[in-house]
Amino acid sequence: MRCQTETPRDLRSLNAEEAEDLLSGWGHKSYRAKQLLGWLYKKSVGSIDEMTDLPQGLREQLAASFALQPLKLAREQCSVDGTVKFLWRLEDDQLIESVLIPASIGRDGSQSDRRTLCVSSQVGCAYGCKFCASGLMGYKRNLDASEIVDQVLAVERWRLSKGTWSIGSEPLVNNIVMMGMGEPLANYDNLLRALEIFNAPWGLNIGARKITVSTSGLAPQIRRLAETPQQYHLAISLHGATDAVRDKIMPINRKYPLEELISACEAYQQAKGRMIWVEYILIDGVNTGLEQVEALGDLAKRLKCKVNLIPYNPVDSIQLKRPSDGIVSQFRDALHHLGVRVTVRIEKGTDIDAACGQLRLKSEKKFSSA
Ligand code: SAH
Ligand code: SF4
Repeated sequence: MRCQTETPRDLRSLNAEEAEDLLSGWGHKSYRAKQLLGWLYKKSVGSIDEMTDLPQGLREQLAASFALQPLKLAREQCSVDGTVKFLWRLEDDQLIESVLIPASIGRDGSQSDRRTLCVSSQVGCAYGCKFCASGLMGYKRNLDASEIVDQVLAVERWRLSKGTWSIGSEPLVNNIVMMGMGEPLANYDNLLRALEIFNAPWGLNIGARKITVSTSGLAPQIRRLAETPQQYHLAISLHGATDAVRDKIMPINRKYPLEELISACEAYQQAKGRMIWVEYILIDGVNTGLEQVEALGDLAKRLKCKVNLIPYNPVDSIQLKRPSDGIVSQFRDALHHLGVRVTVRIEKGTDIDAACGQLRLKSEKKFSSA
């Protein structure tokens, strides 16, 4: 969480225990904490003044000690496939993005009511993966827990303002993937607080199994996450099945090489008793060779995990290419033949730059060249 001397802490990073301690410390009845949490996380108000059933005195106390700074919508892009990409402006004018992916068809072909939000954890990213728009722009700062949480709440406010989604009183977002801009495990404390708020009954009440953390491979933090009691889902961005290939495209691999990463994944699976996913972007001529199929097959069998293949989504100013459909099918079939559970993820929103960091990158260029 950001330091109190810089800006007052945002209310939307409080958990139930802190809200109860705070309000009882100020001499208020215990039910006031529940009311406050309801305004913050269920009704998603944009200001303290809107908390109309809190006494005026309490609202003034809150306003004197805390901030409540909703994300501002800088840009919105709707894809023909229903995906909506949001570019948010933060208080310090930094830009981050979230992507709403309404899946009407489930992975197994059945109807699904899953409405996923892809959430950012940092402004930019320090890890510099060679294929990624977020890596290209470098690291600016961590997001505060409230800025992570408010991406979901801001989408709820957006939906109310549009009135276009007819899903009754249910919240719009019921599945969260930490796959937006940034490396979530490099912002560990704020991430965990945000996940607690997503998951808790007094918060957004989204089941831990519907919350996925994606990481490029920070092995020590994977082990740390393994020790938490919640059953958060873990996805590993592998993208190379040997150190030689991974070193070339993901600098993090030099710090935590494959063996260290895979043994941290085993520790996670053992602690949680749950399967992890391996994400593997297919980049033409970089990681699509037969030796990668074999090495990936060995790793997947060792982890007993499922592999999602994602054909590379081209990014402006990165000279990498998506392989042909034929190469993608060959890679998938070869893995399948080795007995690995494998799917090719159909990218959503490719017409609106929905891959990690792309909209922000384009907007930055537009703003700076304007
Ligand atoms: N830093 C975390 C989470 C954010 S990236 C991580 O790396 O896992 C979310 C996913 O988008 C990662 O799997 C990442 O490798 C992938 N990604 C990044 N750029 C991409 C691109 N151009 N095409 C397809 N997937 C991309
Ligand atoms: Fe950072 Fe993930 Fe992009 Fe790598 S893929 S640069 S870790 S956001």
